[in-house]
Amino acid sequence: MTAVFDSLSDPLPRRLAAGLSRLSVALRAGQWRLAEAHGLTPTQAQALALLAARSGAARPALRVSDIAEHLAITRPTASDAVTALERKGLIRRQPDPRDARATGLVLTEAGTALAREAGDWPATLLDVAADLPPPEQEALLRLVTKLIRGLQLRGAIAPARMCATCRFFRPYAHPADAATPHHCSFVDAPFGDRHLRLDCAEQDPLPDDEAEVVWTRFVSGPPAATPP
Ligand code: SF4
Repeated sequence: MTAVFDSLSDPLPRRLAAGLSRLSVALRAGQWRLAEAHGLTPTQAQALALLAARSGAARPALRVSDIAEHLAITRPTASDAVTALERKGLIRRQPDPRDARATGLVLTEAGTALAREAGDWPATLLDVAADLPPPEQEALLRLVTKLIRGLQLRGAIAPARMCATCRFFRPYAHPADAATPHHCSFVDAPFGDRHLRLDCAEQDPLPDDEAEVVWTRFVSGPPAATPP
């Protein structure tokens, strides 16, 4: 039966989008305050945080184009942010082994220290998330994973280094273990939804067709138990 509110309300996806938009306003305002307190623009703070998350001797240094892609900004905007960070002595350029004509970006010591503070998540947002009961935090993480995957497939955001599309992810490899049903074959350990990662340094992305198979297994939930 159709409830009265079905005709009185905006469609559910629209109200969800409105709610997510409110969250993004709070996130942006918090990031803006944090960045400003450290003499940075939000874009510069995000670029620093991205470089900190993606730096490491084993990984190629990011380029301006990588920053533009990951922050979903134009290349000129990314380039302006990088130039300002370089002027402030927070990053430096180095030759890119992938392309002799390009340069990679690395944090200086001062940039590494500042990235930890200015690029952190707003404390208010962390507090609000921490106030949710653990099962709700876990369920929300799973839903956020789904939203990110959907946006990724539609080309709205750069691919995230998440478990759900990783070569090492074995969803429901331990179906009888409700707390830790999945398996990460990189560290060779079981884990649960509460451990799902959205930006794992060890992630090795699967090709699209294989990722789809793993994804379907993940979202389908645990396999039905076979009757004795
Ligand atoms: S390597 Fe990282 S992303 Fe891949 S399954 Fe393990 S924890 Fe998840």
